[in-house]
Amino acid sequence: MILVSACLAGIRCKYHGGDNLIPEILALVEQGKALTVCPEELGGLSTPREAVDIETGDGFQVLAGSARCLCEGGREVTTEFLQGASKVLQIALENNIKLAILKERSPSCGSSCIYNRVQNNSNGVERTIVQGMGVTSALLYQNGIKVISEEQFLRNYHT
Ligand code: SF4
Repeated sequence: MILVSACLAGIRCKYHGGDNLIPEILALVEQGKALTVCPEELGGLSTPREAVDIETGDGFQVLAGSARCLCEGGREVTTEFLQGASKVLQIALENNIKLAILKERSPSCGSSCIYNRVQNNSNGVERTIVQGMGVTSALLYQNGIKVISEEQFLRNYHT
């Protein structure tokens, strides 16, 4: 069994209420080969919700307590992100998951790059994309579960 980001299977759990449907991933779910999870909803956040970034750090730093998850408006949701990651790990362990295909660039699900919030030169806050794993991806990785993005999956799928 594979774990996949729910939004990739067409579930409308993205922060603005949309999805990131990839038909090849939905097919895995329909064939009973994949389970869907949305760590942000599992952490108690509602949909739609404000977009969230990790503040100058990655998922590993959030797990270690040295970076925070912040909504666009500044509200901190680190606790919700940690809780969602921990619930996803529990689901993965219960289902003997060895591979997860998660949405690239998400602060929860990104596996090689994520949205970050950094201070810019004029003392404002700027969203940028940096290398790193999201909070859920980092926790799965720390527990020996391979995490790839939908982009990697599609590259392999079509070769
Ligand atoms: S947390 Fe992950 S599964 Fe949920 S909407 Fe964001 S990218 Fe998709």
